[in-house]
Amino acid sequence: MKTCGHFIHGRQVPASGGETFASYAPMTGEVLGYAARGTAADVETAVQSAQEGFAHWSALPPYEREKILLRCAENVEAHFDRLLHLLIDESGSTIIKARYEVLYTASAFRAAAGEARRLYADTLPNEKPHRLSLVVREPLGVVLAISPFNAPLVLLAKMICFPLGAGNAVIAKPSEETPLIAVELAEVLHEAGLPPGAFNVVTGFGAECGEPLARHPAIRGIALTGSTATGVRIGEIAIRSMKRLQLELGGKNPLLVLKDYEPQKAAEIAAVGAFTHGGQICMSSARMIVEAPNGRAFAEALARKAQSLHLGDLRDERTAYGPLINQRAVEKVLRHVQAARQSGAEILTGGDVHHGLVFQPTVIYNPPRSGPCWEEETFGPVAMVTEAASLDEMIALANESDYGLSAGILTNDLQRGMNAARRIRCGSVHVGTHSFQSDPLAPIGGYGMSGIGRSGGKYSVEHFTELKWISLELEETPRPF
Ligand code: NAD
Repeated sequence: MKTCGHFIHGRQVPASGGETFASYAPMTGEVLGYAARGTAADVETAVQSAQEGFAHWSALPPYEREKILLRCAENVEAHFDRLLHLLIDESGSTIIKARYEVLYTASAFRAAAGEARRLYADTLPNEKPHRLSLVVREPLGVVLAISPFNAPLVLLAKMICFPLGAGNAVIAKPSEETPLIAVELAEVLHEAGLPPGAFNVVTGFGAECGEPLARHPAIRGIALTGSTATGVRIGEIAIRSMKRLQLELGGKNPLLVLKDYEPQKAAEIAAVGAFTHGGQICMSSARMIVEAPNGRAFAEALARKAQSLHLGDLRDERTAYGPLINQRAVEKVLRHVQAARQSGAEILTGGDVHHGLVFQPTVIYNPPRSGPCWEEETFGPVAMVTEAASLDEMIALANESDYGLSAGILTNDLQRGMNAARRIRCGSVHVGTHSFQSDPLAPIGGYGMSGIGRSGGKYSVEHFTELKWISLELEETPRPF
């Protein structure tokens, strides 16, 4: 069994009060290990180290940072098995999803290595001919990355690699559900040559160490991937000391199935969008909006597909989904399904716990177009299917949400597909597939209550750097007085 400390200044250290908390395997309920329970005192130690780390890291030439980040990518791949198995156990991921996370982590570090070289800025044409104007880009300083439980390796990696590439030091506060994998990643990155203090990890709970970190005046930027409620809380804290803020929050993502698309094939694609990782994906396809007359045929095909999904050992390549993260998550999904049932929606399949924390893949036909199941993020394996009479009605339904994270459109009619893509109000729209898509260079983020700012590639670098205008007078000019 593992006992891990915070990762501060290149090594693991216990919490200042010596307290720990358990990390559980959601599939079996067994204790996997214990992590340091962070407090305000640990936050001070981590911040001090990060300030020293920043002084060293930001002074390195960009190509040195590039080399180190490339070595980080290589070391992630070299320790593939070590990361993969801990990820499967601690997050309840299937081997397919965990493999994707480890490989994507390496890929994100490679992308960030490239961006580290491209801290481009501008020269400006001036009103005054005697003035030379430069705009330069500088790192913010120490950035805080607060990460969620659902993809605890790759999301953390994406949140740290680009700010690091831009020359910031980063302190991570991983989810209290998945602390061990974050410390393991820190070890792997340190082994690859990331200098002490450039990347620290403080493990623990939001109120106990997350908030003291977010409030700390030395933290100049915050990236949070988490729920909208936490985003609002962190936003309120951040604005008090004018910290740069990037929020990647919840979603209630639509998948539009246009009438030219064969319902059986659409259902095969939709199942991946809805049921990957038991629906615990921010970009999960949750609201399936199907153009008439195919609503019922699509819903029945999706229900058949849901029933056929393999549930077994998480390391079995055939296993399609696993458990939810904890009992609270299960209860939320049950509450949403119950609300839909009571409003007269038809539960075509699923609707209950399979065993332990595993929830049955669920397909709901004709849900009410209001209430928790339609409006709130369920974060479970629940697909709702509704039929709409026209493309205009489909788009109106898709946009009928406070969220605006991601959408998918299934059609072979490019003109109608791109027309819809432009009119759906969300951060990304994917034509020809479901809503759960990512790319290290793409701007990931949402409209409305799905967040603020974009992460990925140059967009992260722009977000986590300051712009400075520097001017030089090329000749003496007349003064007004
Ligand atoms: P959460 O909001 O409960 O927790 C996220 C992180 O915030 C955790 O590390 C937690 O400890 C921390 N936290 C909570 N309260 C805090 C506080 N007061 N101060 C400081 N830190 C605090 O979210 P979760 O349940 O871990 O993750 C699921 C959520 O994340 C879903 O809503 C999902 O949609 C969202 N998510 C969004 C994206 C995206 O790219 N938009 C990606 C993945 C997950």
